[in-house]
Amino acid sequence: MSLLVTNIGELVTWGEEPVITDAAFVVDKGLIVWVGHRLDAPEADAVNDVCGAAVIPGFVDSHTHLVFAGDRSAEFEARMTGQPYRAGGIRATVDATRAATDEQLAANIARHLAEMRAQGTTTVEIKSGYGLTVLDESRSLAIARQFTPETTYLGAHVVPSGTNVAAYVDLVTGPMLDACAPYARWVDVFCEAGAFDADAARTVLKAGMNAGLLPRIHANQLGHGPGVQVACEVGATAADHCTYLTDADISALADAGVVAGLLPGVEFSTRSPYPDARRLLDAGVTVSIATDCNPGSSYTSSMPFCVAVAVRDMGMSPREALWSATMGGAVSLRRDDVGRLTVGAKADYAVLNAPSFVHLAYRPGVPLVAAVG
Ligand SMILES: [Zn+2]
Repeated sequence: MSLLVTNIGELVTWGEEPVITDAAFVVDKGLIVWVGHRLDAPEADAVNDVCGAAVIPGFVDSHTHLVFAGDRSAEFEARMTGQPYRAGGIRATVDATRAATDEQLAANIARHLAEMRAQGTTTVEIKSGYGLTVLDESRSLAIARQFTPETTYLGAHVVPSGTNVAAYVDLVTGPMLDACAPYARWVDVFCEAGAFDADAARTVLKAGMNAGLLPRIHANQLGHGPGVQVACEVGATAADHCTYLTDADISALADAGVVAGLLPGVEFSTRSPYPDARRLLDAGVTVSIATDCNPGSSYTSSMPFCVAVAVRDMGMSPREALWSATMGGAVSLRRDDVGRLTVGAKADYAVLNAPSFVHLAYRPGVPLVAAVG
C-alpha cells in the first residue's frame, strides 16, 4: 500500500532541492518513490497529513558502543567533581560485559535502540570492544548483528589488564579476527597514547581488511596522535573523534576523502575542548556527527542533542549539523540508501514537532521528534 506524506512545512531531502517548503513525498514498499511540492503530489492509497511540520531524514548514528553491561555514573560524578578522564575506565565495562548473559546484552541493545528511534535515529552502527577475548568479542558481534548490518569489530579497543601489547595484537589479528569477521562489516582500532600506537593500528586494520572488513578508526581524541594519518594511509572510510588535528592532518583527510566523525557527546561528558568543525568544513573535509553512545565517555543516545552542541559549540550552521548527522553518517557507513529522502532511498524519516529543522538546535533538550517512519 502506498502512502502520501503531505502538508510538510519544510522537507529536508538533501537531493537536488535540498530543503523543500510546502512539500510531500510518497512511500511504496518501504522506499521513497516520489518527492516534491505538495500541489504536484500524485495520489496514493493512504494519506498522512503532518499539518505543516518539518520532516527530516532519520538520523544515521555511525558510531556507538551499545554492546555493554554495567553503569559508570559514579565515574562520571567523580569526573564532574574534579578528577580527569582516564581511558582505563573501559576495563570496568569489560568486567560487567563479560559477566552478562547474551540475553542481558541483547536486552540492553534493544532498550538503547528504542531510545534512539524515539529521538529520530533510524540507522545505527554498533561496535564490539568490551569483551576482549575471542569468545566475548565474537558473541558481542553476533548479538549486535541481530539488530544492525553495521557491526564493527573493535577487539583493539584497549589492551586487557596484565596482557602484553604485542601478544594482544597477535590475538586480535589472529584467532579473534577469525571468530569475529563473520559477524562484522567493519574493523576499528583505538589509536591513542595508552591504547594502540600507529604500528599496532596499521597491523590491526590491515589484518581486518585482509579478512574482508572495511576500515575505520578512533583517532586524535585525547591528543595529537598518528591515528588520522594511519586512516588516510590505509584508506579508512572514517576517522572518528578528530578533536586534536594539525593542519597536515586536515589536509590529509581532505585529500584522502576520509570522513571526519565528530562525537560531541564525548567532549560534553568529559568536559573537554570540542573539535573544530568549522576548520574541517572550510578545508573541504566531509564531516559526520554521531553519539559515540557508551557508558564511559558519552552516555547519550540523542542525535538531536549532538546536533545542538555542534551548532552551539563547534562552529556548524544548523543545516551543516543536520547534514552531518544524516548524510554525513551515511557517507561514513558507505550507505547511499539512508540519510536522505530522495527517490529510491529507504523511507526512513522523522516528523518533528516543529515547523523547521532549525528547531533541533534552537530548542535543545526538547523532545521534538513526533513520529518516525
Ligand atoms: Zn568510540
